[in-house]
Amino acid sequence: MDDCIFCKIIQGKIPSNIVYRDDEIVAFRDINPQTPTHLLIVPVKHITSLVDLTFKDAALMGNMITVANKLAKDEGIAESGYRLVINCGKQGGQLVAHLHMHVMGGRQLSGQLG
Ligand code: 5GP
Ligand code: ZN
Repeated sequence: MDDCIFCKIIQGKIPSNIVYRDDEIVAFRDINPQTPTHLLIVPVKHITSLVDLTFKDAALMGNMITVANKLAKDEGIAESGYRLVINCGKQGGQLVAHLHMHVMGGRQLSGQLG
């Protein structure tokens, strides 16, 4: 996807603070962090949003959660607690059209949804 900002980050075409990379997953720090730790975990292949997932992507999504947990431990927020968020579509608050999982922690988050 030529005009996708996260594809450009994955390809190193625009700078970012990458904290993890393997063949199918890249993670980097959010440019506008909402919490002391705020990471974005993205698939290397361009998937626009959750609605585009198929059963073939089930292992990928499981691996993204596993990477999130590893990075939470690396960041020192696993014991205190953290939040994973995937926004989907316009009303879901998705601004970047490349599937991404937010890893947020390092301060007390609300216990309520919305
Ligand atoms: P969404 O609202 O789509 O779930 O979240 C998009 C996130 O991407 C936002 O938290 C925003 O700060 C982050 N973001 C947008 N553009 C960039 C960028 O160029 N670099 C990085 N590192 N994060 C970005
Ligand atoms: Zn993309």
